Amino acid sequence: MAKSQPIGNYEITTVIDTLPPPRDPALVFQSIPEEAWDPYRSFALNADGMWVTEFKSHLIRSTNKEGPIILVDSGLGPTDDDQGKLLDNLNNLGVQVGDVDVVVTTHCHGDHIGWNVSYKDGKPELTFPNATHWIARNDWDHHTQKDNSDPAFDNSVRPLEKLGALKLVDGVETIAPGISTLPMNGHTPGHQNVLIKSKNSTGVIIGDLFHNVAQVTEQTWCPVFDWNTEMSTECRRDLLSRAMNEKWVVFAGHLPNGSSTGRVIEQNGLPHWQPV
Ligand SMILES: [Zn+2]
Repeated sequence: MAKSQPIGNYEITTVIDTLPPPRDPALVFQSIPEEAWDPYRSFALNADGMWVTEFKSHLIRSTNKEGPIILVDSGLGPTDDDQGKLLDNLNNLGVQVGDVDVVVTTHCHGDHIGWNVSYKDGKPELTFPNATHWIARNDWDHHTQKDNSDPAFDNSVRPLEKLGALKLVDGVETIAPGISTLPMNGHTPGHQNVLIKSKNSTGVIIGDLFHNVAQVTEQTWCPVFDWNTEMSTECRRDLLSRAMNEKWVVFAGHLPNGSSTGRVIEQNGLPHWQPV
């Protein structure tokens, strides 16, 4: 079910695409010993000790219904077993594919770009026919190098150029009044967040800055998916401390629905996640 949170004049809604099977944390966080999970086990893992995640998007709309409709990330996309529900769930919110003006990609991994392009008779078409796709130039440059080719990128991002829907983003760029990209490189070379500032409230859509809620406290823990763990750790520390000090609302890409929107609060001298 979709969950909405106001940030000043904007409303941010979590829109689920796919619910993948739980994963073994020992495989995802390979450098973290099993016992290090003990303080977090009761809320960061399920009863079987597995990490539960989701593939989702965030929808940004202004509360007065004016201004662009912005979708941040586009999920895993269509699957053979019809698991991807992003378009159905947008529809349930009254948003048709033609209504979306901007799709911001936090980074070019397959679970964030899946619905960008649909294929008919093997030919790529825009799923959101009126949208411009905002891709960080660093990710584009990385994946268009031959050594870094990736089928998900070739399938869902590369065709955007020929389809005339690609906008390459350099650092901080304004999407709409109060809404901008915020580079947070490390998870991928061009990983970016979306910052929303309106009427003294701030929200941030963090993509894959962290994957499990334990990382809000254990900010040096990195999953195997991080491209450069030094850079991803530095960004994670920087953003989470700003979010805590300035009381930002944080929209997390991979936490389970119901607890994926939260604030970073201090508890016993340590940062903790508090769902809102
Ligand atoms: Zn991801």
